[in-house]
Amino acid sequence: MEWVRRWSFTVTFISADRSPWGVKVYNTHLATVEAVRRWRERALANPDVENYRVEPVRDLDGDRPTHCPSGHDYHQGFSTIFGRHDWIVCPCGGHHLFKCDEDGCPTRWTPDPPLAVDCVSFDGV
Ligand SMILES: [Zn+2]
Ligand SMILES: [Zn+2]
Repeated sequence: MEWVRRWSFTVTFISADRSPWGVKVYNTHLATVEAVRRWRERALANPDVENYRVEPVRDLDGDRPTHCPSGHDYHQGFSTIFGRHDWIVCPCGGHHLFKCDEDGCPTRWTPDPPLAVDCVSFDGV
């Protein structure tokens, strides 16, 4: 996974029943400047829109890993994810932390995205 730059686009409607999503405030994340431009045009053209807001955000993109760096299969599925998966708070946005259950695995805990030089230090749990 990696951190990618996106735009958070928040549309506020006059009321929930005037919104196609049935909610007064709708938020979505857009990947391209072109998409932001289209959403802005649509918001401006829609009389039911009270206002809109665009903010830069960072999203984690990509699939969660299926194997640890040493090649062991991570068990998949929501029933087993708890206890095997953690989160590191970091100035870069944060890292998932995956745990390999294989005995003697040299890469028991793996941060994803990998830690960069200016990230928090991490040396096992
Ligand atoms: Zn492993
Ligand atoms: Zn980091």
